[in-house]
Amino acid sequence: MKMKGKHILVCGAGGFIGGHLVRRLLELGAATVRAVDSKPISEWFQVSNHADNVVLDLSSRANCASSVKGTSIVFQLAADMGGMGFIENNRALCMLNVLINTHMLLAARDHSVERFFFSSSACVYNLARQSSPLVVPLREEDAYPAMPEDGYGWEKLFTERMCRHFEEDFGLPCRVARFHNVYGPMGTWQGGREKAPAAICRKVLEAKLSGIPEIEVWGDGSQTRSFLYIDDCIQGTIAIAESGVSEPLNLGSSELVTIDQLVSIVENIAGVRLNRRFNPHAPIGVNGRNSDNTRISRLLHWEPSISLVEGLKSTYRWIERDMLQGSTVQTPITLREHYASEWRG
Ligand code: NAD
Repeated sequence: MKMKGKHILVCGAGGFIGGHLVRRLLELGAATVRAVDSKPISEWFQVSNHADNVVLDLSSRANCASSVKGTSIVFQLAADMGGMGFIENNRALCMLNVLINTHMLLAARDHSVERFFFSSSACVYNLARQSSPLVVPLREEDAYPAMPEDGYGWEKLFTERMCRHFEEDFGLPCRVARFHNVYGPMGTWQGGREKAPAAICRKVLEAKLSGIPEIEVWGDGSQTRSFLYIDDCIQGTIAIAESGVSEPLNLGSSELVTIDQLVSIVENIAGVRLNRRFNPHAPIGVNGRNSDNTRISRLLHWEPSISLVEGLKSTYRWIERDMLQGSTVQTPITLREHYASEWRG
């Protein structure tokens, strides 16, 4: 199954990953792409002129039904989410994503779509396996026995189960990726929903521009994570959607770093050295997490191709430009035209 010639719905298309996905699907020759998000179009990170761009709240069942009409592949990425600071303080909002997921699954079933892709998360993994920074990479089976991240992780795990049972009971072919910390240009870097790579780029830039050589680091800096660059994420997302694999698959990098090391990489890119002020009271999530890519590499021959240093360079440069432009709302078409050639590999 290939995307070329298909009629595709991308839910959450105004968001970071959704925006990149729409653009790639059009490049791959999709017949039509309907891009749906609840935010006003002026707030979308990217707007592809050749997509059918629609503003709709997909927590409503009627809106899910109207969005899916005329399409045969659904990418469900819409969610109220953000980095640790957001998901630890907004558990109910994260769980309400279940409305989008259930209504979109029902609409996809009723419309007999050929394929339903769901964007799950590494937050589904059992917390007990992530208590030390010295991690053993997480394999897909480590999600059980279930003890995921409260709120956000539970909802993702529940929807994974729904995908499984919609396929078993209703014959709706579902594909599930567990994204691990995706980062890159044209995503959130301020406002409270940003994730660690973008937040650290922003803080380093703020220190550089203000001349105050100091940075606040959440936790004690020893937490470990792996980060997946957006281009690798999009390539893996499409590979999973096109595949015959119904089981959830990890989609992450296995290049493990501490948050301290992440700060050092960004400092090197910026050409500065900052005093670190560690904040033990900030939300830090689990102490360590890494992705085991054995299964996806065996089944789909997918592995990430962009190193963290390389990916952070383009992310940093993009945030720097956006910050210097002084815009709080990103102007996607302009940014895309001006900067796309620079950060796309
Ligand atoms: P994002 O916040 O940039 O995009 C999500 C989009 O969904 C937003 O534009 C938002 O406006 C939209 N949305 C929210 N509620 C909606 C509604 N009711 N109707 C229509 N649209 C709605 O997030 P992202 O980083 O692009 O993530 C995309 C998906 O991947 C999400 O489901 C997220 O949970 C999952 N995920 C992302 C990461 C990551 O590192 N970025 C990691 C794990 C999982």
